[in-house]
Amino acid sequence: MKPVIINFPKRNRLLNKVFNTIEVCENEAGCLTHKQELDVVIERLGIGKNVNYTIKVNPKLNNNKTEAKRQDGQFITIIEGSEPDAKIHYVFFSCESPAYTRNGYIVSKLPVSYRAFCNDTHKDKTFNVFLLSVKDSGVTMRDEKLYKGNVVDFKNVRDAVNDYQTFAYKLCRTLGINILNFDMLDWGENKKNETIAATPFKSIKDMKLMRNKMTKANNKSSYIIENAEDTILYGKTFGNNGFEIILMAAAAKAITKGTVYLWQIKDVKRLNNKEDRKPSPITAENLELLGNLGIECFDELQDYSPNDEALNDGDARNQAEFMKNLMLKFGSDEKKCYLCDCNIQKLIIASHIHRVCDINKETDISFEEKRVKAVSRDNGLWLCANHDKLFENGLIYFDDRGQMQVSETELTDNQCDYIEQITAQDSKNIKAEHLTDEMKVYLSLHRRRTHH
Ligand SMILES: [Zn+2]
Repeated sequence: MKPVIINFPKRNRLLNKVFNTIEVCENEAGCLTHKQELDVVIERLGIGKNVNYTIKVNPKLNNNKTEAKRQDGQFITIIEGSEPDAKIHYVFFSCESPAYTRNGYIVSKLPVSYRAFCNDTHKDKTFNVFLLSVKDSGVTMRDEKLYKGNVVDFKNVRDAVNDYQTFAYKLCRTLGINILNFDMLDWGENKKNETIAATPFKSIKDMKLMRNKMTKANNKSSYIIENAEDTILYGKTFGNNGFEIILMAAAAKAITKGTVYLWQIKDVKRLNNKEDRKPSPITAENLELLGNLGIECFDELQDYSPNDEALNDGDARNQAEFMKNLMLKFGSDEKKCYLCDCNIQKLIIASHIHRVCDINKETDISFEEKRVKAVSRDNGLWLCANHDKLFENGLIYFDDRGQMQVSETELTDNQCDYIEQITAQDSKNIKAEHLTDEMKVYLSLHRRRTHH
């Protein structure tokens, strides 16, 4: 028989109560309040039935840092076999009760455990979730009463699963996280979600669609821009929604080949149109997690300039910030060509009116002023690949009233007809609410460059 060691955290409100961790002495599995249920967890991990195991509390984690950390967080670790070839299983316990948890307990608590898992240096490791149900009713998750005695039901996750949880479970699937007792969930009237939650997201579009479905348009806390080469997630990385965006970024990295950027934005208030709690920067731990996952982070809250002149050879380009500003101006993270109906995300470009290569050549302004121009929301439009090239080459341009003009002298009649055909008649002109004085200046610079 391979030795099996189960490690419990010393301090975790939920696990303390569920398993009686505080009273558990080393090696005394008998002290566990729910030993039978823990046996079920072991069985479902594929370790076996009626396994003899040793209990340890608050061990040091096999962390990749020089100083190992004590196990903390809402998870246990199970070590199967002997070091150095031992296999380690992380099991995160989530208390699933939609009635008490507005935003999904799993999403807000999981990143801490997932971080420990990512830092774990065992070659053979798995990350698992075991869902618990609150038995008591009429109390909130924060109510101490909830944690007294036999508070959870291991047999059935009693409350019907909501859309938000379905989304969280699908994020788990995308990250390769096993849900050990998925079959115990009560789907209630949401039965169709069972199939949805059983498979990973296939694409960024999938993930966006579902996220949009469950959040009201005016209450979005995160935005995702999908480009041909990369994906950019914008949002806050603190609070419950913040944990969600971290998992979404991790999931995006798992389903796309391109680079994934996570951009923490300062003006969350302007994104969802309501007051928000005071923002705080990305924590060092989350930065480390995202870094380990290969996700590049930017944080507007910190005095951080990704386009420092010295680092960037004086190039004022900052495409992610430019896109964010266009998104704020035009109001959606579903990119759509300003001049036609094309909304194929990978074909829509954040098109500059006054090009960055020309801004870079300007000699009479400071680098900071160049940066402002390069990312200005008034210096751009979302355009499809066709309209972007036509505009860049000056084959189409806008007059001072914002009306689109075709450069007839450079084109045959047929070509002019083609441009008319691919351009939506009702969106040929820049709308009054978009046509600011600053935009007029950029449009005139474009005309000057293209000789109109
Ligand atoms: Zn177009």
